[in-house]
Amino acid sequence: MSTQRLGRLDLELTPGRLTLAGRIDDASPLGEFAAQVPAGDIVIDTDAVTFVNSIGMREWMRLVRALRERGTVTFERVADVLITQMNLRPEFSGVSIRSFHAQYVCPSCGAEAAPLVDAIVHADSLRRMAAPRLPCAECGKPMDLADFPERYLSLFKA
Ligand SMILES: [Zn+2]
Repeated sequence: MSTQRLGRLDLELTPGRLTLAGRIDDASPLGEFAAQVPAGDIVIDTDAVTFVNSIGMREWMRLVRALRERGTVTFERVADVLITQMNLRPEFSGVSIRSFHAQYVCPSCGAEAAPLVDAIVHADSLRRMAAPRLPCAECGKPMDLADFPERYLSLFKA
């Protein structure tokens, strides 16, 4: 396992898996970092990414492009701040996403949360651009997506 820090972003690389945590911004040259990742299939986990700016998004795309040239890239636990940006970019259309975070709100109690949406379990509804209703952690009633489905689900459209 190797870990390193680029600005305010922590990276952990284990065989077949890259985990990012923190902020992807001007201080995160992910395009250069790609050279350190061995060729082959890889899972990228961004559960703990909290922020990305426009330069960070450019670096993120350079990283993903480089890794996709060398193997299959699968995204797990995609951060809310990244999934909405990835939905704006056609090159991510059809990529393999196992799960992602999305902003939800509970119509019963008003609680807001960013739960993890399992894209395998809910594949059918995602293809129809319908966000699955998920249980509220506060009251147990079903929560709804708090945003336009296009912001999160365009990537899954059949
Ligand atoms: Zn609730």
